[in-house]
Parts: sequence; structure tokens; C-alpha cells
Amino acid sequence: MLAETQFFTEGDGEPVAVENAGAAGDVLLVCEHASSQIPKRYGTLGLSEDALSSHIAWDPGALAVSQLMSRQLAAVLIYQRFSRLVYDCNRPPESPAAMRDSSEIFRIPGNEDLSEAERSLRTASLYLPFQGRIRDEIEVRRRQGRRTVLVTIHSFNPVYFGERREVEIGILHDKDSRLADAMLKAAADTRLYRVERNEPYGPEDGVTHTLELHATADGLLNVMIEVRNDLISDETGQGVVADFLTGLLREALEAI
Ligand SMILES: [Zn+2]
Repeated sequence: MLAETQFFTEGDGEPVAVENAGAAGDVLLVCEHASSQIPKRYGTLGLSEDALSSHIAWDPGALAVSQLMSRQLAAVLIYQRFSRLVYDCNRPPESPAAMRDSSEIFRIPGNEDLSEAERSLRTASLYLPFQGRIRDEIEVRRRQGRRTVLVTIHSFNPVYFGERREVEIGILHDKDSRLADAMLKAAADTRLYRVERNEPYGPEDGVTHTLELHATADGLLNVMIEVRNDLISDETGQGVVADFLTGLLREALEAI
């Protein structure tokens, strides 16, 4: 098997990025689908430029919203610097969705018939360092007697398989719904956005992997936030959504 360091080509950079490291806030922000960058060794994966810049490659706007929230909440932000097309860091290695050979209406030629060695290489190069960095961050805080509130930030496409999605912001949770419940309560009277529980995805779709891995078992407050990407396609929209979500989180955390 190739050494981990050989996976990346000069200019690719590191798989994991950390912003606002050492920030004092309780919230830890995570963005698994922050980037559409493909490691150079994979070229285009056989996809068109349009597909490579579309929502199948990344969550457009999610990183920008996370960065704004990171400053507002004094929160450490950890994000993956490579596309989910190569490895979807919100899925465990054994999941078929970790390295998909199709996404919505697109076939992904570069992901067809992957060998076990190739799957292991991607897992070791992209998934393990990413989830390992989150685990380390939580562990350091635990030793310092600090708490961690785990919040993952995503975006979704307004149209999926030809269907228009009316929900604008989804508040997602798995077994531990404390933070999601408090956020939904705080959002109950808003006229700004249509906010719904476990939409447009839910735990049955396997999307709460990061939450389960780091928070649910240890009793840490956690939530996954999905924002419709047409609302965060420019700086103005990103700012309004970030302000709204920061407000919801603050109100919810005060109420718990
Ligand atoms: Zn996502």
C-alpha cells in the first residue's frame, strides 16, 4: 500500500483545515463538504466542469457561512479541503455512500469498481485525518474541563431529481435531539426562513455520521444544519443566514 504522504501531489495541500484554532467558545463547527477540490492524482474523475463545480462535488456556500459563524461564536472551525466526490467525510468507510459511483443524476466514472486498496488509501488519506482532528480537538477540551457543542454545517440544492424543495433551513438530529429541539423552538416564530426538523434529509439517510461518531455516545450537545444553497450564493445571503443561525444557536444554548 502507498504511504499516506504519496496520496497528495505538490500543490494539493493538506486534507484538514482548522480556522480560529484555540478560540474560547463552546461550539465546535465542522464542515465536511466545504470544498470541490479534487486531489491532482484523480484529474476530473471523468466528470465535466459543470458537474465538478455543482452541488454533487461540495456544499456551495457552507464554508462561507461556517467562517462567519466561527467569528461570531468564537468557535473553532474544522473543514475538509477536498471534495466529497473522492471521499464523503460524513460517511463511514463501510458505507456505499463514502465513495459513490453516482450522485443524483450524475455517474462518476473515476469511482467505478474501486479496489479495496484504493478504498483504503482514500480512507487513510482523507477520512481518518479529518475525523481524527475532530476527535483530538474534543479530547483536548475535555482534558481542560471545557465542554464541546458539535455543530455541522451543510447546504442542499433547491432542486433534487427535478423536485423543487420548499424547506429553506433544516435542523437535523439523531437520537439526541436536545439542541435541535431548542433551536426549532427558537425558530418557531421566525418569518425569515422556512425551518424544518430533519429536512431535506434525516438520520435514516445516514447523514448524522459525524454527530454519532463524536457527540451522541458521549452526551455532547450536537446538531446538523442544512441551508438551501440558493440562499447563500452571495455574501449578503451568507451574512444573513450566518446571523440567523448564530442567533438560534445562542438562544438555544441559553435555554438548555
Ligand atoms: Zn453536506
